[in-house]
Amino acid sequence: MFRIIKAFAEAIFPSRCLNCRAFMRPDPRRDEKLCATIELTFGQAMNRFLCSACLMDFQPAQSPLCPRCGTVFDAFEVEDHLCENCVIAPSHFHQARAAGIYEGALRRIIQDFKFRFKIHLAKPLGLLMLHTFHGMYEQKASTVPDILVPVPLHTIRLRNRGFNQAFLLANHLTDLNRQHPDLGFPVLKTDPDILLRCRQTRPQVGLNKDLRKTNIANAFRVTAPEKAAEKHILLIDDVYTTGATVDECARILIQAGAARVDVLTLARA
Ligand SMILES: [Zn+2]
Ligand SMILES: [Zn+2]
Repeated sequence: MFRIIKAFAEAIFPSRCLNCRAFMRPDPRRDEKLCATIELTFGQAMNRFLCSACLMDFQPAQSPLCPRCGTVFDAFEVEDHLCENCVIAPSHFHQARAAGIYEGALRRIIQDFKFRFKIHLAKPLGLLMLHTFHGMYEQKASTVPDILVPVPLHTIRLRNRGFNQAFLLANHLTDLNRQHPDLGFPVLKTDPDILLRCRQTRPQVGLNKDLRKTNIANAFRVTAPEKAAEKHILLIDDVYTTGATVDECARILIQAGAARVDVLTLARA
């Protein structure tokens, strides 16, 4: 019965691609596909929301890259190697990885999620992040992080937006991991109460690397150092641009006694 109603609804209100607004042909298997497997591509996570042309547009953030900050190099560089920035001024975090490049359809999806209140996108995006998490830690079970910490928003911005996108992503990642014990990862937990954004900063958009660093300096506080002490922490955020925000978080977490801080974002600019 539900399927009939759904088919009927699709006929009257056909789905449109979130990126190009093209009408999409309904695929009856797409709901099942969404959570059936973790060996998924961007296409499998996102095929309810994007047409096939926009799905093809996705660029994964993959090798050749900088093993530390995750900067993606041009394909001709062939091998992973440290980038110039990481040689000159190494970050406080141990490694940063992202699912894809912040362009095209992925960029549009993230903006819809963040600024147009499309909170339902948190689940497929969380799945995409779990896929990247899997790639980060699959060969090294002993290095799996103890806690996931979403990059906090200042209370005023949180009140205006109504939700913290990083917290939703971290929560979905932890939930989806629990539903996939076959991955062999221990139960992960998200703790949004370790870090606090104590100072309101101007948006980082439009600022260069140095200004971003100054803008974000001392914007965070570790409110529960006992929870961070000796822990391997994975910071979660939506977009990595120059890394100034996550590096500042990593700096104070390490100062508070964290053993290691990694970074996972949906996209990198
Ligand atoms: Zn499209
Ligand atoms: Zn680097």
